[in-house]
Amino acid sequence: MPDNQTDLNTDGLTRAELFKNNDGLTYNDFIILPGYIDFPSDNVDLTSKLTKKLTIKTPFVSSPMDTVTESNMAIAMALNGGIGIIHHNCTIDLQVAEVRRVKRYEQGFITDPLVLSPTNTVADVYEIKQSHGFSGIPVTKTGKINSKLLGLITFRDIDFLSKDQWSTILVEQVMTPINELITAKNDLTLKDAYHILQCSKKGKLPIVNSNGDLVSLIARTDLEKNRDYPLASKDHRRQLLVGAAIGTRKEDEKRLHMLVQAGVDVIVLDSSQGNSIYQINMIKTIKSKYPDVQIIGGNVVTQAQAKNLIDAGVDALRVGMGSGSICITQEVMAVGRAQATAVYKVAEYARRYDVPVIADGGISCVGHIVKALALGASTVMMGSLLAGTQEAPGAYYYQDGVRLKKYRGMGSLEAMNVCTQSSAASRYYSETDHVKVAQGVSGSVVDKGSIHRFIGGYLYTGIQKSLQDIGYTSLDKLHSESYNGNVKLEKRTASAQVEGGVHGLHKYEKQLF
Ligand code: NAD
Ligand code: IMP
Repeated sequence: MPDNQTDLNTDGLTRAELFKNNDGLTYNDFIILPGYIDFPSDNVDLTSKLTKKLTIKTPFVSSPMDTVTESNMAIAMALNGGIGIIHHNCTIDLQVAEVRRVKRYEQGFITDPLVLSPTNTVADVYEIKQSHGFSGIPVTKTGKINSKLLGLITFRDIDFLSKDQWSTILVEQVMTPINELITAKNDLTLKDAYHILQCSKKGKLPIVNSNGDLVSLIARTDLEKNRDYPLASKDHRRQLLVGAAIGTRKEDEKRLHMLVQAGVDVIVLDSSQGNSIYQINMIKTIKSKYPDVQIIGGNVVTQAQAKNLIDAGVDALRVGMGSGSICITQEVMAVGRAQATAVYKVAEYARRYDVPVIADGGISCVGHIVKALALGASTVMMGSLLAGTQEAPGAYYYQDGVRLKKYRGMGSLEAMNVCTQSSAASRYYSETDHVKVAQGVSGSVVDKGSIHRFIGGYLYTGIQKSLQDIGYTSLDKLHSESYNGNVKLEKRTASAQVEGGVHGLHKYEKQLF
């Protein structure tokens, strides 16, 4: 038995000791030893740095993949204290529109409501009710938002009509016209809106500008379930933070310019191997033209790669090559690094320059997130873990009775084909390449419900509880104590890993939250 402090200190390994043999370790290859608890888990503060200048209250970043992050995901991530990075496997206009949606998001205001035109039919209203589950649809001159509001059609306006009339009666014949409608101007607060809806007993409140054009809509049901998001990631104008990915080709400079105009907060230079002349030149261009934009460079897995990008001026590094769940890079390219080693090595170097590290890829549970953070990452980037949520792009479908969503690598043939079909830049291969070499696969992930419950509830609380077990009240403390050698780790043998999972049961169901 250890009988003094020195002996106690030899129980377990420091980070440096764990990696001293230069093995390629994954998150599963080690475990964190428990510490001492003298505080409740909900006191644990998960505030962390995303980049040199941006701090967020939860260490979660959604990956710039076309089955993971568009505006719905980015809004939900930011509301829950993290950030979403909008993918660039689309035209510049589409990506810019997604960034604008996030920046313009105001809680409770629906800025892209379903809208009908006066010449739509009652059948269209029934179809919307069938597919979206609600009525109460604004009617504008063009059938689009930002056009003159003419009325509102609700289920009560049409429920007396027989089915054979549905396709012949026009919306304008049965809607509540504008002169009988309660509307509000676009300078009202949510509190005012709530008051108006309460007094008028209406379900929807259209918001118009001084020309009478519809600019947004407020739904009573949204206000009722309106949650407070005290951790939300916001800029100095109180707009949600959002990131966007770009490549490193000449045409990406135009994309960059448009994204900056749209108010993007952080640019991710999206590459599997970021240590290139192309990326270094792009970093320099961004820094000289847009000094306020934060740049996340990468991906890198070695200290030499990190050095070049830090010297060029990045504000954070994205770490991971070949560790993603959909990734075949290590198999095909024979290049990459085991993720735990990559995170530790790069974070250890980047720390000296105050450059935060994002552990990207290979995160499949709360434990992996905590291990990445203990190895020096400030935040984690996730793809597969978020792809099955409601806020991820794409529709659910059933296979063998299981509810699924599509999830694919950005270097999969499928994603590359979308890219070349759209007018997006020729991202994945040089003009001279005639053959595509896939670095990812296409697959599916199971339904995870809403991100609000998954990230804001399960992942957040799970990490707080884990840090409590380790004995630290904040991520800052975990970082400094890991660096000081006070967080103790241990290598896991193959049988230790088996023992650490569910084992010896005939049958079980793993329900996590
Ligand atoms: P990339 O744009 O960095 O590289 C594609 C090709 O274009 C490379 O051959 C590169 O050298 C070349 N290139 C880039 N800029 C150039 C320029 N200015 N002039 C000439 N050639 C230039 O993209 P990638 O590395 O193929 O990654 C594609 C996508 O797949 C990204 O979304 C990436 O995140 C993802 N991916 C990630 C990993 C990973 O392990 N993290 C692995 C594979 C793919
Ligand atoms: P996941 O969270 O394990 O699913 O990994 C997501 C990460 O995989 C992304 O953030 C990218 O860094 C990486 N990635 C995305 N597309 C590809 C691909 O096609 N091949 C390899 N890695 C990819």
